[in-house]
Amino acid sequence: MTTTASSVVELAEALIACPSVTPAAGLVFDCLQAQLEPLGFAVHRFHAGEAPDGPVENLFAIRKGPEGSRHFGFAGHVDVVPPGEGWTIAPFAPELRGNLLYGRGAVDMKGSIAAMVAAAALVPTDAGTLSFIITGDEEGPATYGTQELIKHMRAVQAIPDLIVVGEPTSVSRLGDMMKIGRRGSTNLWLEVEGKEGHVAYPHLADNPITKLVHMLAELKAMPLDDGTDWFQASNLEITDLTVGNPATNVIPARASARLSIRFNDQHTGVQLGERVRTIAEKHGGTVRQVVYGEAFLTPPGAFSQLIADTVEAEVGLRPEASTTGGTSDARFLKDLCPVIEFGLCNATMHKRDEAVAVEDLEALVRIYTRVAKAALAG
Ligand SMILES: [Zn+2]
Repeated sequence: MTTTASSVVELAEALIACPSVTPAAGLVFDCLQAQLEPLGFAVHRFHAGEAPDGPVENLFAIRKGPEGSRHFGFAGHVDVVPPGEGWTIAPFAPELRGNLLYGRGAVDMKGSIAAMVAAAALVPTDAGTLSFIITGDEEGPATYGTQELIKHMRAVQAIPDLIVVGEPTSVSRLGDMMKIGRRGSTNLWLEVEGKEGHVAYPHLADNPITKLVHMLAELKAMPLDDGTDWFQASNLEITDLTVGNPATNVIPARASARLSIRFNDQHTGVQLGERVRTIAEKHGGTVRQVVYGEAFLTPPGAFSQLIADTVEAEVGLRPEASTTGGTSDARFLKDLCPVIEFGLCNATMHKRDEAVAVEDLEALVRIYTRVAKAALAG
């Protein structure tokens, strides 16, 4: 059987059957390559990075349309989170039960990638250029995944006009939500040094907990924003507080805490880090920061309207344009061109017995096909 004749369910089953706990490598890419090459795609696979965040395998596939034609990109990842315990099937032995296809990655996001492949088979080559931007590390550190794919695409001058990322954005029904942006994410580690001593002689000691508590109260009260038309308000959350003092009569020498800030496009990670540092230093603390991703927004416009119109035409539901949820690789791809995320229902993602409805897979093929054709037609 050729790929063009394969159903989206068969394509998804083949991908799910390749174990690919993050970081994915080898087999699952062989499988995807074998699905794409018969459709006329030139497939380029490469490894990037070194330990601890690498090496990572990535795949860029392109099927060029006529000279000067538009370019539409499908983006996603073939790695999956570890299956964990308690499955009623083997997580990498996909199983069709009734109307549901079970297996790790069914919705996040091998099912979506299968729908993209099936859609590519239905888009005529002369309609324009199509590409697949697929990483083996989205669920992990993502240091050498999509960011390296972007470097490659710039090097070979293959920059799409529009990209759809196939993350599972739908909530309770296929089509009820798309993501037009995501909040940024940063974690900060705070530490306060004090002076150890006996609680009966506090004048000889310096309690770091008191300073840390005041610092955290001021940080938690720090005004961020009230949200925007498209984003909820940014939020700072205290996620850990550690002293580790087993003695009831000892003032400890140090205390530490950790913050997580999810922020909208009113801020950058570095700016927030500076604000935290100013407050922390006032209370005698030090700060270490990691920025995981900046916020991004593809402002509502022609692209979001195209997706909304297509989804509505296919499944009778107009997707909400949301910016909620965690980070995704769209935070990198937005540097290339407008990017929107749209995919399957996320109710079972990262859970045991992850499953996708066959009719959702089939509807997603129709949606991706129409979106790609319309995007290429400009
Ligand atoms: Zn995902």
